Amino acid sequence: MRLRRAVAAALIILVALAAHWGGLLRPLNHALTSLRMYSEPRQPTGDVVVVDIDAKSIATIGSWPWPRRLHAELIDRLVELGASDIAFDIDFSAATNPTDDAALEAAIARAAGKITLAAFVQKQTTGADSAVAFNRPLARFAKNAWMGSVNVRQDSDGIVRQFGYGLILDGKVIPSIPSILAGGISRTGREFSIDFSIDTRAIDRISLIDVLRGTVDPQRLAGKKVIVGAQAVELRDFFNVPVAGTISGAMLQAAATETLLQGRALEPSSVWVEVAGLMLIALAVLAIGRVRWSTMVAALIAIAALTEAAAAMIQKEYAFATNTAPWHVAFATFAIAVLVSEIDIRELLQNMWRLRASNAEALLTKVVADNFAGVVVVDETGIVRAASRSASELLNLRRSLIGAAAREVLPPELMAGIDAVMAVPEFDRVSRRPSVTVLTRRDGQERAIEHVTTVSEVESVPAEGGGLRRQRVATVTFTDVTEQRAAEAQIAYMARFDALTELPNRNLVIERLEDVFASKDTAVRASAVVCLDLDGFKNVNDSLGHQTGDLLLQAVAQKATAILPHGAMVARLGGDEFAAIFSGKTASEDAVEFATRAVHKVNLPFDIAGHRILISASAGVALADARDRGPDDILKRADVALSRAKANGGNGVAIFERRMLEAVVERQKLELDLWQALEREEFEVWYQPQVELRTGRVAGVEALLRWRHPDRGLVMPGDFIPVAEAIGLIDELGQWVLETACAEVATWPADVRLAVNVSSAQFARCDMAALVASALEKGNLPASRLDLEITESVFLQPSSTLHDVLTSLRSMGVGIALDDFGTGYSSLGYLQKFPITKIKLDRQFVADLPANAGSAAIVRAVASLARELKLQLNAEGVEMVAQVAFLNAYGIDEVQGYLYGRPAPARDIIGTLEPSTEGVARLRA
Ligand code: C2E
Ligand code: CA
Ligand code: CA
Repeated sequence: MRLRRAVAAALIILVALAAHWGGLLRPLNHALTSLRMYSEPRQPTGDVVVVDIDAKSIATIGSWPWPRRLHAELIDRLVELGASDIAFDIDFSAATNPTDDAALEAAIARAAGKITLAAFVQKQTTGADSAVAFNRPLARFAKNAWMGSVNVRQDSDGIVRQFGYGLILDGKVIPSIPSILAGGISRTGREFSIDFSIDTRAIDRISLIDVLRGTVDPQRLAGKKVIVGAQAVELRDFFNVPVAGTISGAMLQAAATETLLQGRALEPSSVWVEVAGLMLIALAVLAIGRVRWSTMVAALIAIAALTEAAAAMIQKEYAFATNTAPWHVAFATFAIAVLVSEIDIRELLQNMWRLRASNAEALLTKVVADNFAGVVVVDETGIVRAASRSASELLNLRRSLIGAAAREVLPPELMAGIDAVMAVPEFDRVSRRPSVTVLTRRDGQERAIEHVTTVSEVESVPAEGGGLRRQRVATVTFTDVTEQRAAEAQIAYMARFDALTELPNRNLVIERLEDVFASKDTAVRASAVVCLDLDGFKNVNDSLGHQTGDLLLQAVAQKATAILPHGAMVARLGGDEFAAIFSGKTASEDAVEFATRAVHKVNLPFDIAGHRILISASAGVALADARDRGPDDILKRADVALSRAKANGGNGVAIFERRMLEAVVERQKLELDLWQALEREEFEVWYQPQVELRTGRVAGVEALLRWRHPDRGLVMPGDFIPVAEAIGLIDELGQWVLETACAEVATWPADVRLAVNVSSAQFARCDMAALVASALEKGNLPASRLDLEITESVFLQPSSTLHDVLTSLRSMGVGIALDDFGTGYSSLGYLQKFPITKIKLDRQFVADLPANAGSAAIVRAVASLARELKLQLNAEGVEMVAQVAFLNAYGIDEVQGYLYGRPAPARDIIGTLEPSTEGVARLRA
């Protein structure tokens, strides 16, 4: 400490001295000295008067330089008025006209002893060498006068502060005018500082012209020391001085004279005084004990002020100009040293940090406040330090959270998160995974809030003050995910449930089955699946509309749910297909029972939207099998069983057996073969005669398709037409039959008609009118020889064009026969609505004739209907003569059946075209 002080003291002195001697302090010293002068003005003695050669004088006399006789006259006047000394600050070094010079010479002589004439040294720069020229008055003037130097020296800043006592030239002493006027002080060669505290404005100034005119109060000149000099601006004899500003040369002489007269020639301060002062300061620095820096600085300022006051006093009283600047520098240096060493740098830095921190905090506070999410920052003391507006909104708090005690404003669920993270010893171990909590807001609303609490360690200045402290803050960030959750739940629901029946859908079935399959419990794994499908649901949809169809599906779902045993699940797989899953020990029995009951329940009539709907269902049951690799396998097997149930005629249950798979494989093989059959030309058209009952003549033939397969042999249409329809081959196949038959029959006797079966599927998909027209044209068969046999199912497919197609076929001359009449829906309305030309009574009514009274009644009714509607009537499946008799009795037009001829290839049929006597004979019988 001591050492540091000593070093500081030494440094202070060194700095001050260096500055002083380096000349750096000169302006400060000048300024301080001038300031002291300025602050303590003093009056002149009044003994010195300046007679100005002013603008007024020059203007009156009219020229410059003046004739010397005017100066002579001035001397006379001044002497007359009693001036004690007259000094001329005018250059009389050159001769003018002799008369004038003589007059002046005489006047000077008259005033001998009172006159001082100006002399000055001038540096002459003539050519290369610079010589010093002494500019003195002419000898004729000088012989009766004093010679006073008027040399003025400007400081480097252009300001005149000093004045010389006199100068020595060639060994001769030439005192300055002020020295002479002040009465012979002679420290020639040296200078003194002019005391500008003497008010130069108070020195009497008289215009020269007034003296010549004699208008001056003699009092102003009597006994006075007069300095005559230029005052007019034009004469450019002006100097800048401290305090007084710009004054004329004469006035400068007057000020210097006054300085000497008043004994105020300011002695420049001695170096020793300055050094002594510095030493004193250094000692004081070493001696002073430890005080507060502020006290110290205040003391230094006080000491500096005192020093300055003392200097002012000394200057005023003793005309001693003290150079206080080095001391002030020392004080200032010391003060800075004190500030630097005494002020706690740490505190300073802390303050800076606090400022920076508060800026950063302001920014963060704003960022947090504007955050989209709910953000609440809580410090260790449980106070909310920052919060977003969203936080208040999400929690339905009407106030800002900032400053509040977190425990009082935050819901306990969020508070628990904060407590948890604050308690974790290592804060980077805190989980950052958001969690969702449903909390009840103050307004009673339940909201799902997704929140995450993080913890941060921050350095902060506690509100209560003091140093930096590491502390933890917990930040809860949360958003309201209520709507999002609801939407997600909705989507999740929609993904797993069927919107129409609200039953689980296929996805959930798969999920459930996966669970069952994954179970370790063998009892659970012993599962069973039932597939349930409505028979002919499509017809309900087509005939009663989709809305009714939907209602029916809902009703079926209800029935199925009602009979579902506990723990089982029933789902809608799509369309009219349902599935039920059973697991556990009794799974197989439960499944079979459910399937049976479901089929039975569906069989009961439904009353839906004013319709009584009769429908049946088929069910397939599959039991879990060790060979199942996943849910799909058991579902597929249940489906296979379902297919079997359907194939068995519907309205029943089939339980999966391995061999059903073979049927499926077989069906797939059949489909494959069928695709290739057309290409391989395996199809043949056979013909069955249609006989005119009245004459026994073959009126026409029905084209019936046959498939001659290399392995399968001759395949009947019943075995492949439905498959061709199902796989979409029927269009091509139908066209082939039509074209082949038309072309073939065209070569037969012109009175033989051709009937071609057309599948309903073809009507739905093809432009039948165009197809038929093209086939007729290609085959060269007149349209009037062709009948198309359609079944009632064609009317069930909603087709806006069906009527038009049939009408245009009719207009071409093609006949339309309604096949299998009596087996389908038999809405008699069709007969009127569509352009039908023939009814083909289904063979089931013919088969048990005449014994079956019911069939007989139907035949009778249909016969009379045909007659009424003027439709032709064909009876199919006539095998026995007894049947013929019955049909004949009711006036049936046309018969077809094994009795008249089985379907046969074209070459076999041609021979039968001529009515055989045998046949006719049979008819007669
Ligand atoms: P369908 O139109 O009712 O044809 C009459 C069926 O009855 C033929 O069977 C025929 O052989 C059989 N049949 C005729 N007379 C008798 C009889 O006295 N007793 C018995 N038991 N049966 C008799 P097929 O040829 O097996 O044809 C079955 C069905 O296949 C046809 O029924 C028809 O719906 C369909 N079909 C045949 N060929 C074609 C075709 O080219 N196109 C379309 N779309 N369907 C065809
Ligand atoms: Ca037919
Ligand atoms: Ca038929």
